[in-house]
Amino acid sequence: MSPQSADLAARDLAVVWHPCTQMHDHETLPMLPIASAQGAWLHGHDGKRYLDAVSSWWTCLLGHRHPRIVAALKDQLDRLDHVMLAGFTHEPAIELAEELVRIAPRAADPARALRRVFYADNGSSAIEVALKLSFHYWRNSGRGERTRFVALSGGYHGETLGALSVTDVPLYRTTYAPLLMEPIFAPSPDAYEAEPGESAAACASRRLREMRAILERHAHEVCAVILEPLVQCAGGMRMHDASYLTGLRALCDEFDVHLIADEIAVGFGRTGTLFACEQGGIAPDFLCLSKGLTGGTLALSAVLTTTRVYDAFYAEYSAGKAFLHSHSYTGNPIACRAALATLSVLREEPVLERNRVLAAHLASRLAPLADHPNVADVRQTGMIAAVELVRDKATREPFPSSERRGLRVYRHGLERGAVLRPLGNVVYFMPPFCIAPDDIDFMVEVAVEGIERAVV
Ligand SMILES: *Cc1c(COP(=O)(O)O)cnc(C)c1O
Repeated sequence: MSPQSADLAARDLAVVWHPCTQMHDHETLPMLPIASAQGAWLHGHDGKRYLDAVSSWWTCLLGHRHPRIVAALKDQLDRLDHVMLAGFTHEPAIELAEELVRIAPRAADPARALRRVFYADNGSSAIEVALKLSFHYWRNSGRGERTRFVALSGGYHGETLGALSVTDVPLYRTTYAPLLMEPIFAPSPDAYEAEPGESAAACASRRLREMRAILERHAHEVCAVILEPLVQCAGGMRMHDASYLTGLRALCDEFDVHLIADEIAVGFGRTGTLFACEQGGIAPDFLCLSKGLTGGTLALSAVLTTTRVYDAFYAEYSAGKAFLHSHSYTGNPIACRAALATLSVLREEPVLERNRVLAAHLASRLAPLADHPNVADVRQTGMIAAVELVRDKATREPFPSSERRGLRVYRHGLERGAVLRPLGNVVYFMPPFCIAPDDIDFMVEVAVEGIERAVV
């Protein structure tokens, strides 16, 4: 480590408390001060560069410091920094809402189109907004007995208390369980948990039958079903068949409950389509967006909903029906400009077409891993790929989490110059869309070496 890097790391460890970290680990794990970034690469104060194979927690969509986003931000800073969005408005918030409504997944029924945008400033807050809006919709409609949510096993929706309530990742949830709402957890259509010989589609339809049974019993007290469409990301990059989305939309219609699609991680092209919902041919009643929305530059989130939901709140003030939820930085103009620049790149450049080529390249490089004696599954949806490490390939017995095998892959990655940050025993890849084929080769090579070291 260079002297400057060591100095920054020491000063950091004296005052900063890091997210999702047992700080004690840093007695042996080096803290990495980053000086700059360009494209798919982070540049350390130690003079080394690191391939950002996880898009800095899935935020950096197009690559670091994309020139069009940088230019838009500089221009916006010369005009308007911030103004509260209650009573005031500005072009970036208006234009971004217009653009989001334009590109949102199409509803089969035009009366259920996503036409309204509520801003918040991070993913968890968007989930809080969607949960509150759904509950409040039913209350405003004389159905105040609807107070519960249905969520999927293995799902992740953030870590504020409401979002954590509908999250089923024990690492994050168990400690705080006494503080949380209790949703009804339905089994995930996760294809990794399919019965032997069962296809992903057959697994999805079996899980839909179980969802039907839950709604038959509980629909009268349920506001909404919430899920991460196609890929349950933080829960281990578990993937399901798109037919589950189609079937779930039909069940929500049949039982008259809302559908909340959390596309915070999977939105904006990660799964191969602009939104994951498109692959099931559906639109939700609430669409939550964040992470890649600003191309990974600033914190911003948006909840899109229908005119039907909006109208249930629209009344004389005295009726007491308004949605009185706010965050100080709601609709921040600088963040909205970053989002507009990101969406204009997605609109004007053949990003998704290029991703198809990159995704196929990634798949071909990962394919040999399927034969590895400690790999139970290699799976991919668009630009998200994952490798499931196990102790026993035949029985799929996992490595105990206490052995922290993934951490060995992480350490090896840093030594070699790639940021791989496994989720438990799942080594995954979610690179920025600007990644070069050569960089994909390097990323996979480092991962394979790391896996070899982790499984011994
Ligand atoms: C990251 C994430 C969130 C939470 O977003 P934050 O900005 O970290 O609060 C919610 N849902 C999903 C699917 C996510 O991946």
